[in-house]
Amino acid sequence: MQRTCANPWCNSSFEISSADLDLLEKVSPVIAGIRFDLPAPTLCPDCRQLRRLSYRNERRFYRRPCALTGKECVSLYSKDKPCIVFDQKAWWSDDWNQLATGRSFDPKKSFFAQFHELSLVAPRPCIVNMSSENSLYTNHSAYNKNCYMCINTGYSEDCFYTSDFALRNKNCADCLAIQKCERCYGCVDTKQASFSLFLHECINCTDCAFCYDCQSCKDCIGCWNLRQKQYCIHNEQLTQEAYEATKENLWPKTWDAIEEIDQSFRTLVKKKAIHRHVIMEHCEQTTGDHDFHCKDVRDSYYTCESEECAYCYDTGTVKSCIDANEPYQGELQYESHGCNLGYSLCVCSKCYECSNLLYSQYCWYCKDCFGCFGLRNKRYCILNNQCTKDEYEALVPMIIEHMRNTGDWGQFFPTNLSVFGYNETAAQDYAPITEKETATREWKWHSVPEDKPAVVKVIPAHDLPETIDNVSNEIINWAIECEATKKPFRIIKQELDFYRNMKLPIPRLHPDERHKRRMALRNPRKLWERECGKCGKKIASTYAPERPEIVYCEECYLAHVY
Ligand SMILES: [Zn+2]
Ligand SMILES: [Zn+2]
Repeated sequence: MQRTCANPWCNSSFEISSADLDLLEKVSPVIAGIRFDLPAPTLCPDCRQLRRLSYRNERRFYRRPCALTGKECVSLYSKDKPCIVFDQKAWWSDDWNQLATGRSFDPKKSFFAQFHELSLVAPRPCIVNMSSENSLYTNHSAYNKNCYMCINTGYSEDCFYTSDFALRNKNCADCLAIQKCERCYGCVDTKQASFSLFLHECINCTDCAFCYDCQSCKDCIGCWNLRQKQYCIHNEQLTQEAYEATKENLWPKTWDAIEEIDQSFRTLVKKKAIHRHVIMEHCEQTTGDHDFHCKDVRDSYYTCESEECAYCYDTGTVKSCIDANEPYQGELQYESHGCNLGYSLCVCSKCYECSNLLYSQYCWYCKDCFGCFGLRNKRYCILNNQCTKDEYEALVPMIIEHMRNTGDWGQFFPTNLSVFGYNETAAQDYAPITEKETATREWKWHSVPEDKPAVVKVIPAHDLPETIDNVSNEIINWAIECEATKKPFRIIKQELDFYRNMKLPIPRLHPDERHKRRMALRNPRKLWERECGKCGKKIASTYAPERPEIVYCEECYLAHVY
């Protein structure tokens, strides 16, 4: 069936297929043997995804006191946020009563209003970066050591500003979605690279810079679509001596050189490189982009080792999920965000190792709970109230019926109830809107001025020494004013050491701006119909038909690169 998105500012038409309806039936929760059918969605997949992401502040860090100990902590919640924030250690301790905020369901009020009231008084952890060492400023991350400003990063060491599924990296900075990389800078969607700069969609490359879609290459600069090559510049084979002589001038040492090479290389790639219509490896009956080892997955992006899913994003090893962002291991999730190891979850955000959970946030190791916030190891709770199994099984169907009547059943938590300003969340990364637009939609905007950095002086970025050789140790006591946004930012000692080691200049752009530019290299998470640039076959691609890149179907692409 064809539907129109219920968001008045969107109004786009979207399809709900019979496969979607089958999957919806499958993920509908079962309580005491009775299945509670989920209705077909009223919003388009994009709006559904953005609504989930409006609950995800990835990269805005603040300092605020822990509400239990008074100790200052690094937090995702600025001081003005009206919620109760505990330092991670305090939150995980038994020094407070998780059920003290429990309340009875009031049928005279909407469920979301009651959940929202609970969410403002139930303590939440300041940030999520479990099992990490010396990695205070990391979020949605775990098992890291000596990492700084890393988001969605795991099992990494000595990394700075890495994000979006950055796994098992060492000594990397300013990278997006890199895995098993070492000593890399400015790379995007790249695996197993080392000693390399500004790679995009590369695998297993060493000592390379500014390359696109290269694999198993060594000593290459400004190349595209190459396999197992060495000493190439702009796809031209040179001798070792000629390469080394040219490299000396081409390997960027100043920020101006980086910007110049970057710009001319991107233009060259747009004109000359062959772009694969979508990136997919070892998939069966799968649509989307950047999907690996998937089976029967529809309209999903950055999904790996998953089966029977639809509208999933940044997903690993899940089965039978629909409308899920960032789940890692799990099954039967519907409208979930950041729920790892979750089984049978319906509208949950940041619940870990939970099963049979509905409408809950920030729960760990819970089972059979409804409308709960910030609980650990609990079962049969409703709105943080402990029930017996019988009470739970009698009350939950009544609340669902109530939510059906109010139109809330099956809907994710509304954006206007998110404690974050829209501009603080990942939703703004994917669909940026203005403060005025957020106001029309009755959403929040975060405009509290950031604390001024406590520094000796602020220097404009263009006053920085051109190369790293002339940068003094004093720089860690200064703030740099971003060339593009004027926002001040700081360099920490480990970061300075990294730039020195890599012979890279100090960046002249604020980390947020650098992240934005890396994100801009990625395609939208959306498929268009277009024709293969070689054989004319109809293909689904994340490159819109009006884009200038040369886009090939899978067969023509493979014939070209191998
Ligand atoms: Zn929409
Ligand atoms: Zn073709």
